[in-house]
Amino acid sequence: MIKLRNIKGTHDILPEESCKWRHLEDIIHKICAQYGYQEIRTPIFEQSKLFSKSVGEDSDIVTKEMYSWEDRSNTFLTLRPELTASVVRAFNQHNLRNLSPTQRLYYIGPLFRREKPQKGRQRQFHQFGIETFGSNLAEQDAEVIVLAWQILSHLGLDKKINLQLNSIGTDVCRSAYREALKKFLKPHLHELSEVSKRRFETNPLRILDTKNEKEISILKNAPLINDYYSEEDKEHFNEVKTYLDASNIPFNVNFRLVRGLDYYTKTVFEITSSELGSQDALLGGGRYDSLVEQLGGKPTPAIGFAAGIERILLLLKEKDLKISKPTPDIYFICHEKAGIPASLSIAKKLRVKGFKVVSDTLRRSMKAQMRDANKIGARFVLILGASELQKNDITLKNLRNSEQIKIKQNDIVDFFETLNN
Ligand code: AMP
Repeated sequence: MIKLRNIKGTHDILPEESCKWRHLEDIIHKICAQYGYQEIRTPIFEQSKLFSKSVGEDSDIVTKEMYSWEDRSNTFLTLRPELTASVVRAFNQHNLRNLSPTQRLYYIGPLFRREKPQKGRQRQFHQFGIETFGSNLAEQDAEVIVLAWQILSHLGLDKKINLQLNSIGTDVCRSAYREALKKFLKPHLHELSEVSKRRFETNPLRILDTKNEKEISILKNAPLINDYYSEEDKEHFNEVKTYLDASNIPFNVNFRLVRGLDYYTKTVFEITSSELGSQDALLGGGRYDSLVEQLGGKPTPAIGFAAGIERILLLLKEKDLKISKPTPDIYFICHEKAGIPASLSIAKKLRVKGFKVVSDTLRRSMKAQMRDANKIGARFVLILGASELQKNDITLKNLRNSEQIKIKQNDIVDFFETLNN
């Protein structure tokens, strides 16, 4: 027999872990609602061209990381490698622009990138993120960043994280800077890696993202983007910084932060943690004022971020999570075959009333079932044995104080309801 295993770079989230996921997801839902964001869920796969048109033909994602295939109807499809493009597609397709002048959306879900698996880097991973449409003003940038920070600080991570902020300006600024950067890099071209040589032609700003030591040292003397800001770029960036200060959000300005995707304009930001090792980015985002139009919609400014859920969970220590495992209210013990119909019926009535009831389905001995009830932390046990069956009774034992009483089977639901009030 072949033992089947999960695919490299994917992970099973077992019950021990899934309660942490639920805890984190609850916080995301709660805080997003506090800021007026509504959840959006888009399909796991989309047409391939959605991503090549938005993320950038030359990006790592499009050149080597997408899981794509040709469908039987000759359409090229891709498992989503990121969610901004999908959300923008949905925003355009459903004319969400017409519903209100600003749309605030958030998502939680899986993504797929064929990267080399390592700690903090998977082939199926999960992100939560927000995308907000309609405002080109700096208070919108601040709102998005403050929301990101609030979620992470709610999780107790604010001492472990670092917010890096930059503005990559509007198109005019970026094209002037691109030329200046190319001029600076040209004499060093022969020293650059093959990837950077290619980027020199296609998207030189992305060379600033390099992890190559030699390139990092060459770039130390490279021109910085802030020298190319227009008045509008400067004003917007200054406002964002002022609003973050007013919200008590600490940040470092990093003029070399560009982010790997093509669609960003003006504000870009990243939250990292030195406790994460080489894959230190927790969350990244920025403004993308042209993407809605680029994907066929009416010109609409927008800004968002995406955060890696696995990386957040890697940073969270058990003690930070304060999660108590769900425990049943009642453990139902019935080891007499004749009692099973009644036990099923009573257990169902109790569940309908909202109680958590676990029943043994192995017909184990009374002793074994009692041990199980204690092990899983049940508060009460109900026992339906031969003597109880004869008299239409049921025995109730409180596992906290070991008190035991007999109650009529017909009265048991009322008994628990009164107890609850
Ligand atoms: P990006 O969409 O590349 O800006 O990524 C946003 C966030 O998603 C990163 O900061 C990471 O936390 C997370 N992330 C990106 N790629 C991966 C991956 N392959 N495995 C796990 N998390 C990832």
